[in-house]
Amino acid sequence: MRVSTELRVPARALAIGAHPDDIEFGAGATLAKWAAAGCRLQHVICTDGSKGSWEPDEDLAALVLTRQAEQRDASRRLGGSGDVLFLGWPDGELESGVRQRSQIAAAIRRFRPEVVLGHDPWRRYRLHPDHRHAGHLAVEGVVAARDPHFFPEQALTHHRPAALLLFEADEPDHVEDVSGFADSKLAALMAHRSQLRSTMNVEDPASASQLDRFRSEVLTGLAEHGALAGFAHGEAFKAITDL
Ligand SMILES: [Zn+2]
Repeated sequence: MRVSTELRVPARALAIGAHPDDIEFGAGATLAKWAAAGCRLQHVICTDGSKGSWEPDEDLAALVLTRQAEQRDASRRLGGSGDVLFLGWPDGELESGVRQRSQIAAAIRRFRPEVVLGHDPWRRYRLHPDHRHAGHLAVEGVVAARDPHFFPEQALTHHRPAALLLFEADEPDHVEDVSGFADSKLAALMAHRSQLRSTMNVEDPASASQLDRFRSEVLTGLAEHGALAGFAHGEAFKAITDL
């Protein structure tokens, strides 16, 4: 299949993830590349991340604050300013209803990004409902943000982004060359220290071999995506540019 490559570097990019760390997994290297070229980044995290522990006795209120700090740190490691909007819906219970859509539309209208990034809601056999709902919110939030008669009570000027990039794409058709930005993606992922065990399968952060295994998994993924377009490292997306 023919794939497109290399969007023009946007002045502003807004990325929408269900949980802290999703955006770094899906698009971290692309965001790092754009930030290095002068793009302003904003993260929107839909849930509070309060299910992100395998520890039955975890202090969940403390976990939420820890994960917010980690997400801001990850944004800075990508070259952003740490600008993160936390919508705070309960982890595992995100819905893609009108209230949530209004929040996403308002975020797009305020930040006025040229590119919006989010989960692909149509990825087949996706189990986690938050990822599916966050994906629908990215798509439907763009539709609401671009048209002047949606959510008039916001009193915000409508805004039409130039492109929507869906990561974890079911049918990827666009690849960004991220050669040289794998380390930035890895550094941003490692900012999510509380998630090393549950999402990165690193039981012991002091174990060089476990960290090396995680690093090689990430690099393998970048190489596989890059191969779709002949790049050493890439991140693949479903690109929607007819907005
Ligand atoms: Zn997630």
